[in-house]
Amino acid sequence: MLCKCGAGLPKGAKFCMECGAKAPKRKPKYPTIADELYINKVDPVLTVKEAAVLLKVSEWMIYELTYQNKIPFFQIGNRKRFRTSELLEWASKQKEITTRATVQEGKISS
Ligand SMILES: [Zn+2]
Repeated sequence: MLCKCGAGLPKGAKFCMECGAKAPKRKPKYPTIADELYINKVDPVLTVKEAAVLLKVSEWMIYELTYQNKIPFFQIGNRKRFRTSELLEWASKQKEITTRATVQEGKISS
């Protein structure tokens, strides 16, 4: 890190030893959405379990959303599968993800 005066500042220094000016704050590096979702590490096709992890919801909710046809999925035999790209696009369009049943105080009621 460098001070405005050009002097090198040790890590964590609050003031410049040369000119006494406040050390510039290091800008926090915000992760991009791609970084955050680890898109590069996500398989293009997901199981229910993996879709739940990606969307940070329970597997139960993923099943509910598929039964209600509220989420894009396809079937291979009787296995439900999700395309990551479709899930992410779908998720980006949701204002509120709800299923018919609501969860209240840990109890599931419909
Ligand atoms: Zn300085």
